[in-house]
Amino acid sequence: MRVAVIGAGVSGLTAALELASRGIPVTVFNPPAKGSSVATRDFAGGRVELGPDSYLRRPGHALSLIESMGLPEIYPATTRASMMTARGPIPLPRGLTLGAPRTFSAAMGNPMMGLGSKLRAGVGALLLGSSTTGDDLGQIADSRYGRRWARLNIEPLVGGINADSIYGLSARVSAPAIADIAKLNAPPTSLGGPAFAAPESGLSALVERMTERLLGEGAELSEQACEGLSVHPGSVRVETGKEELGFDHVVVAVPAYVASHLLREAAPHASLLLGTIDYSSVSMLIGSASAALPGFARELSGILIDRELRLLSTAVSIYSNKWPTRVPEGTAVFRISTGSLIDRRHLEMTDGDLIEALWHEANRVLGTDLDLEQSLVVRWNRALPHFAPYHPRLIDHARRSTASATGGRVSLAGAYISGSGIPTCIAVAMEAAAGCVERASRI
Ligand SMILES: Cc1cc2nc3c(=O)[nH]c(=O)nc-3n(C[C@H](O)[C@H](O)[C@H](O)COP(=O)(O)OP(=O)(O)OC[C@H]3O[C@@H](n4cnc5c(N)ncnc54)[C@H](O)[C@@H]3O)c2cc1C
Repeated sequence: MRVAVIGAGVSGLTAALELASRGIPVTVFNPPAKGSSVATRDFAGGRVELGPDSYLRRPGHALSLIESMGLPEIYPATTRASMMTARGPIPLPRGLTLGAPRTFSAAMGNPMMGLGSKLRAGVGALLLGSSTTGDDLGQIADSRYGRRWARLNIEPLVGGINADSIYGLSARVSAPAIADIAKLNAPPTSLGGPAFAAPESGLSALVERMTERLLGEGAELSEQACEGLSVHPGSVRVETGKEELGFDHVVVAVPAYVASHLLREAAPHASLLLGTIDYSSVSMLIGSASAALPGFARELSGILIDRELRLLSTAVSIYSNKWPTRVPEGTAVFRISTGSLIDRRHLEMTDGDLIEALWHEANRVLGTDLDLEQSLVVRWNRALPHFAPYHPRLIDHARRSTASATGGRVSLAGAYISGSGIPTCIAVAMEAAAGCVERASRI
């Protein structure tokens, strides 16, 4: 059996490693010009992440795979955050799960909320375990904790992570912890210790180590892009523009809109379904300064911004506080994010305009007048999938129609399947690889 994996992001590399380590010959296709979402670069005398900066340490196969890469881990030096509101920055309370209170007292301890809102959310917390209908996170949060609580606590966190609004977002996919609190009253599993981690030298080291291991297992890396797939008796052909190569199985581990394009001939119905998945674009200004931060910001990992303030930025992350070992002493490094599914203003702005506007806003949020020393604008176009309510059903249909159109020879993986986090991408890719292995055992 020979398998092709399309895409060499975390998802594709995971699927390929799983297969290659079982002795299955694998070819991974990924053109060098198209980068994955993981990117660590030199910046201001240190190292900075342009995309993801950490992964959730949730027990399971995904974490085991990451740990098996043998990279020394570091943990955020601080995870404390504040929220910029019309009243100024207010510390985000602890004891909440993605902004939702698990207990009455967690709701009552929230300094951002008035008594009425706290009581309302506290009663919502007491109703844990009673059933909720629907899969719209905003509606679930509003009805359980009240609209004001949802806007100030859940929207900035979950909306920020997904570059989306919680209204019209699948609770099951984007905030399973909240869906579980609401439905099952089951606390999320935890390893104890820090919730997030990253390789000491940055997440690119993870991708590089996975690639090294893959080559060590004898897998082939092709720098050609896949332009289409076609199903033939006994094989699936990968078209690259230069040649057509036959494989017994193909794992497609690219964004949904690319998968839609690749499957247009091999699985037209699945192609249509995947083509309906929208994506958010975000931009980020990475900037450095050498003056000291104001007292309230010295221990903060970042400041989320209440969308009612109508700023361009959604969050000011203080990278040097979170990852001090990666930044020279005396230098403050910020990652200032902008953009969401509906806020597309940044797409119309030049890099120069973005730098000026985002740095000005960061100074306003911090109450400082810091001079920008070094800057880098990163554009993540169509980078974060939008998970509409009942997204899992759409994926289920897409998988079934892909399998039926291709005789089970094509599997889907990627961040759009079950959620954007790196551990989820790894878990989904492992599942896709396991499907191939099972098929191989039957051939
Ligand atoms: C700004 C940002 C911040 C994030 N922060 C976090 C975080 O802190 N923690 C976290 O866990 N997750 C985070 N994520 C999400 C996480 O980075 C992604 O969900 C994950 O890396 C996706 O991996 P992937 O392999 O599925 O997709 P990708 O990384 O997009 O990889 C897809 C690969 O497919 C290749 N490709 C595309 N077209 C073709 C083609 N035609 N032929 C062959 N190859 C092709 C691309 O070159 C790419 O390498 C963040 C994402 C972004 C954008």
